[in-house]
Amino acid sequence: MTREKLAGVLPRAALDTGVALAQIRPVCEDVRDRGAVAVREYTARFDGVDLPTSRVPAQALADALAGLDPRLRAALEEMVRRVRPVHEAQRPAGHVTPIGDGAKVTERYVPVDRAGVYVPGGLVPLPSSVIMNVVPAQVAGVGQIAVASPPRPDSGGLPAPAILAACALLGIGEVHAVGGAQAVAMFAYGTADCPPVDVVTGPGNAYVTAAKRLLAGTVGVDAEAGPTEIAIIADHTASPRFLAADLVAQAEHGPLAACLLITTDPDLAVRTEAELAAQVASARHRDTVQAALTGQSACVLVDDTDAALAVSDAWAPEHLEIQAEDASGLAGRARNAGAVFAGPYAPVSLGDYLAGSNHVLPTGGTARHTAGLSVLAFLRGIHVVECSATALAAAAPHIDALGAAEDLAAHVAAVRVRAPRGQEISADGGRPAPARLGARPPATGPPIRPDLAGRAPYGAPQLDVPVRLNTNENPCPPSPALVQEITEAVAAVAGSLNRYPDRDAMALRTDLAAYLGHGLTARQVWAANGSNEIIQQLLQVFGGPGRSALGFEPSYAMHPLIARATGTGWIRGARDADFGLDPDRAVAVVRAHQPGLVFLTSPNNPTGAALPLAVIEAVCQTAPGIVVVDEAYAEFAREGAGTALALLPRYPRLVVSRTMSKAFALAGARVGYLAADPAVIDALLLVRLPYHLSAQTQALARAALVHAPELLATVAGLRGERDGLVGWLRGRGLAAPDSDANFVLFGKFGDSRAVWQGLLDRDVLVREAGPPGWLRVSIGTPAEMGAFRDALTEVLGTCRAAGGGK
Ligand code: PMP
Repeated sequence: MTREKLAGVLPRAALDTGVALAQIRPVCEDVRDRGAVAVREYTARFDGVDLPTSRVPAQALADALAGLDPRLRAALEEMVRRVRPVHEAQRPAGHVTPIGDGAKVTERYVPVDRAGVYVPGGLVPLPSSVIMNVVPAQVAGVGQIAVASPPRPDSGGLPAPAILAACALLGIGEVHAVGGAQAVAMFAYGTADCPPVDVVTGPGNAYVTAAKRLLAGTVGVDAEAGPTEIAIIADHTASPRFLAADLVAQAEHGPLAACLLITTDPDLAVRTEAELAAQVASARHRDTVQAALTGQSACVLVDDTDAALAVSDAWAPEHLEIQAEDASGLAGRARNAGAVFAGPYAPVSLGDYLAGSNHVLPTGGTARHTAGLSVLAFLRGIHVVECSATALAAAAPHIDALGAAEDLAAHVAAVRVRAPRGQEISADGGRPAPARLGARPPATGPPIRPDLAGRAPYGAPQLDVPVRLNTNENPCPPSPALVQEITEAVAAVAGSLNRYPDRDAMALRTDLAAYLGHGLTARQVWAANGSNEIIQQLLQVFGGPGRSALGFEPSYAMHPLIARATGTGWIRGARDADFGLDPDRAVAVVRAHQPGLVFLTSPNNPTGAALPLAVIEAVCQTAPGIVVVDEAYAEFAREGAGTALALLPRYPRLVVSRTMSKAFALAGARVGYLAADPAVIDALLLVRLPYHLSAQTQALARAALVHAPELLATVAGLRGERDGLVGWLRGRGLAAPDSDANFVLFGKFGDSRAVWQGLLDRDVLVREAGPPGWLRVSIGTPAEMGAFRDALTEVLGTCRAAGGGK
């Protein structure tokens, strides 16, 4: 029988979205036109709840998590632990394809900025749906994820507590108590409470499905979810008890669920029928099961397993179970199925919850062309085309021909203006381009790793400006006495530079341990060329391909950059709106992602404040791997801010990193260091390059440590300057969070670029780092701060006069 004929006789409930479409169209148009007001009215009308805002309060999320049954919580956590690595493996690498001489196409996978996940309310709330939709979005790297679920009068007008708890568990802070078509329209068009999203995913009833179909042009949507279905291919080796159990389990989803048993063994069919009779009779949802099994369900007898596969492929089931000899061989040959469950111990119920696979799968035969939900739903592959003049000239004759055939003369002209006919082009494309700092490699560049293609290098501008306050340097140069001592220390090693230095830098580590105090010894301290190298070594040994690191942004931008350079996946956690970090939320995010490393920056760059030790401790208690507390600015912290060094005795996987670049005014010398358990340091020896820290670096760092008291006195002066600046900025009506570092974040500007440029025009260089609308200024000498204040006063005057300032 042909596939078309087979598909024609196999049963399946017909789904007609036409009626629902007509009903939801005015609802969607109304939400488009009247936004949050319309959402409120529909929520009152359809869900019987009047909510002044759709946004579920943060407290309700925290309460739901606190009130979650511990056994359900453990199960959800286990589900996340299994689902996440499966989806991490899905994340596609970019590709670079060279096309001839000097031309290439790079494919970069870029996550959408904002995704909306719909979670149905239903009679029974499905927290597993939250996980199956949110985890792929998180793994894809989506910046903002919002969840919508209908409010329930029996849950105090909020979505079901289990759904809120699952959101909180995954670190989702934006949940809307909205259901039905109005939720999809809210996501698609945006309202005052909910900015529009780029993609909506998640199952729903006929109205939700219809709204997704209607709004598919306005917003990206995942596949339509229809009634669920299973096909089971079984031979004489299958157990009728297992088969009947799986058919009943599928049928209990609803009366429209479809079940197909495809077997080579007539005797098995008879025995399964008998089992079914017994199991249906005792089923909890007996009527539903009965309706589904007597409705669009059937048993198909086939001659052999080849025929069984042909029947299944023609029907293209959402779930295909194979309970037959060589189940995995047959599973490898199935062509049309949402997911395949091979062997007697891989039932669909495992896949619904804990297989690690995604349970959002194509139904209604759409498995012929569509896959289940994956990270790809939240990613776009973007082609980046680069071409040299020579390569364009080589392509030009073909573009002449194609443009002529399609009568698109301007297309041809746009190429020929660059590659005139008959004109020779030199191999480097003609005129040499002026060298630019941080410029991209040319299109004909070397064959770099695909995952690095298209990335921009680190590049805080190093401009020759009189007042440079953009890289958090210490503005006070070493004192003449220290310069003298450094010179002598370097001179003392100069005579033995023919030898490699002490590759374990023991003397320096001993001095650093003494400086840090807290009972630390050289065995617990490690040093490298700047704390950036410390971070790199940590990621090389504890991260790497297949592992991930998590940070809470905005934070130090080099953490993700170094992570990616070492092939470590980067998970973007978010700080709270006030740039703080709520310990429960931090713990939930760590628990949900199970990263190999967590980075906590304290004091944080660029926002300034130190983290309370309680937050660090909560993360240490939860994180499965290494917790790195980056304390580059520790010496600048205000009174009372603790240091994570105090926690080291209790947490063997805690690493505290420091630098001599800031408090010791030694950015040019490149010395960073860390304190940790000796076992962590032994691990670092596996990746450090032999003799990484030069003899003169070790010598001068030790000389500077002798001057620690003098240097720390300078730090105290800078702290005073900083606190004065915070007050001054606030006095100008600007926001400036309290800072524990040697810089201050200030804003918020409608056009921060204009303010940055205005300052630069007045010879003051600050940093456009961190959240949009904010600028960061490093603390300079009193004279430099005076120049900064004067320049900013002028710039604010011009911007306000132009109406474009704050
Ligand atoms: N960590 C943080 C938070 C930083 O801001 C910086 C530099 N600005 C570093 C580490 C790196 O410092 P270095 O490599 O100079 O030690």
